[in-house]
Amino acid sequence: MSNLDTITHFINGAKVDTASGRYGDVFNPALGEPVARVALATAEAVDAAVRAADAAFPSWSNTPPLTRARVLFKYLELCHQHTDEFAAMLTREHGKTFADAKGEVARGIEMVEFAVGIPQMMKGEYTDQIARGIDAWSMRMPLGVVAGITPFNFPVMVPMWMFPIAIACGNTFILKPSERDPSPSLLHARLLKEAGLPDGVFNVVQGDKVAVDALLDHPLVQAVSFVGSTPIAEYIYSRGSQHGKRVQALGGAKNHMVVMPDADMDMAVDALMGAAFGSAGERCMAISVVAAVGDAGDKLLGALKERTAALKVRDGMAAEAEMGPVVTAAAKQRIERLIGEGVEQGATLVVDGRDYKVADRPNGFFIGGTLFDHVTPDMTIYKEEIFGPVLCMVRLPDIGSAVELINKNEYGNGVAVFTRDGGVAREFVRQIQVGMVGVNVPLPVPMAFNSFGGWKRSLFGDHHAYGPEGVRFYTRHKAVMERWPNTASAGAQFAFPQMK
Ligand code: NAD
Repeated sequence: MSNLDTITHFINGAKVDTASGRYGDVFNPALGEPVARVALATAEAVDAAVRAADAAFPSWSNTPPLTRARVLFKYLELCHQHTDEFAAMLTREHGKTFADAKGEVARGIEMVEFAVGIPQMMKGEYTDQIARGIDAWSMRMPLGVVAGITPFNFPVMVPMWMFPIAIACGNTFILKPSERDPSPSLLHARLLKEAGLPDGVFNVVQGDKVAVDALLDHPLVQAVSFVGSTPIAEYIYSRGSQHGKRVQALGGAKNHMVVMPDADMDMAVDALMGAAFGSAGERCMAISVVAAVGDAGDKLLGALKERTAALKVRDGMAAEAEMGPVVTAAAKQRIERLIGEGVEQGATLVVDGRDYKVADRPNGFFIGGTLFDHVTPDMTIYKEEIFGPVLCMVRLPDIGSAVELINKNEYGNGVAVFTRDGGVAREFVRQIQVGMVGVNVPLPVPMAFNSFGGWKRSLFGDHHAYGPEGVRFYTRHKAVMERWPNTASAGAQFAFPQMK
């Protein structure tokens, strides 16, 4: 028996540990030791959550949209009051700095600010007199029980890409958070309950593949939103679709930042430092490749080298920390192995973050900022998503070869171009095969009222996340044609109707 606190499920308005006997350790990555254990759901626990959500659906979907929105207004207020509590959980279980964690909560809160206005987006269209005596209109209706499966890297915000929108649209929700940092899911549950959300509308099942498969196979789950790595996203999409569900599955990334020789180099270096090393590179929009055109590489290298070597990597709660540890011992090992492969395959290791030591945290999963130059597309460090604090510089002769390189990449999540030339930027925006594009903006993450999503193997499914695309994903369209019998009947009609 472990004497660590157990992080449980939340089903039908209450915390429950279904005592499956399966638990996982939750680590504080800065300490390198377990700080809690998480219950791992069985298919029976998932079934209990789905049934609770299904039972709550008729009443919640019949609740007027404005009444639903008012619950979210209250929840929004509570999220503001509990920002520090969310952020401290994030730093403790994920490792990111406290300041970055607060930023994550703020970006999540924006999703709720969008969701409270959803009644405006549920309006349909109306056409008078589509034929004599007949009017037509459309309605957007909720789907029923929907599920969200989320990654470790944004355990507060990514679930908020999903449930506020799903719930505002009248669905009931099951969240299966990452088993690496599960605590924020229960704080969401507690605050939603405190805000007046009826039991069963929002449920949490903790767990791993067993819970995910049970959700994908459950006949009462109508739709699945997933965010995580590409192999799992593809799996979720195919298994969920096979069971007739609506699926949006956002996958991994390899994001390039093109720097043209005419760019503002100070601005480009600042942008690269934040975008490559913020959150230890564990962001799906992190820049992991700088594609330096012409002599831009020579102009960038000195400052990048100096600032990467000087990065302050600490326990995320330390005030001076610019970067925290990576999430697990396995992640640290994998990233260090990839750095080794970069060296073996001939890239120039300019700053080596392996064996980074933090004096008061000897067992933490720390890696220092790492910089490679002269990386080529055949190298493993270029091809694989490293998901750590490693920036690779690729040298290219012109913008055309940068566009060609990026368009050949299997991922298409985010990209940026830094230049002072509006014509170059405009053509780049038009030609590039990537879902989110920044011009002198390194992390082009759309705001809550726009939608987020990549192209190619960064997204499986038809809808991007949140914003108007999220509303479309969580609702279905119904077309209604109505006639009242106050016109003389023309008798049955056997041919396809034509306008008279
Ligand atoms: P992951 O794919 O390992 O896990 C994501 C979720 O899937 C977790 O809830 C996990 O429990 C579950 N899961 C893991 N293995 C599974 C399996 N075999 N079968 C069924 N379910 C499984 O991802 P992660 O390591 O938690 O997160 C990092 C990845 O997420 C990176 O690839 C990153 O790029 C990606 N990501 C993408 C976006 C985006 O918007 N495109 C956003 C954030 C993170």
